[in-house]
Amino acid sequence: ANDDDCPPDVEALGRSTWTFLHSLTAAYPPRATSEQQLEMHSFLKLFSRLYPCWVCADDFRAWMNQSGGRNEPRLSGRSEFGTWMCEAHNAVNRKLGKKEFDCRFWEERWRTGWKDGRCD
Ligand code: FAD
Repeated sequence: ANDDDCPPDVEALGRSTWTFLHSLTAAYPPRATSEQQLEMHSFLKLFSRLYPCWVCADDFRAWMNQSGGRNEPRLSGRSEFGTWMCEAHNAVNRKLGKKEFDCRFWEERWRTGWKDGRCD
């Protein structure tokens, strides 16, 4: 069956959702107001409860709430938030045995396109 014509499995849902989540960080302001930070914090909290893959949501929530607060969302601006989302994605990559992504390049992958022009 054509993938685009069928209900998404965990993989397809994940790919689409990561596109959305990283795009959200790409569109985030370079310096966010406290209201924008609060809004995004609420979104992430609700997202981590409502994401329709329940084990995924449980583990993502546990990662965010890890003791010591080191995985708390960093929402002061685009660069911090984009890097945080990249680290969140890498935590899932590790769990699934996938390759980690070098977070220095999140912005080329999701916002500006690669410097070699391959996305132009
Ligand atoms: P994906 O991991 O979907 O990545 C898509 C693209 O993003 C990659 O091709 C790459 O270009 C880019 N990318 C990769 N890593 C990063 C990064 N760190 N930062 C920026 N860009 C990156 N699946 C499960 O089986 N079990 C789970 O518990 C689970 N939890 C999930 C939790 C969340 C919040 C989400 C959104 C998804 C989860 N998934 C889970 C799905 C899983 O992460 C993948 O989306 C799915 O396995 C498809 O993987 P993929 O190899 O196509 O690439």
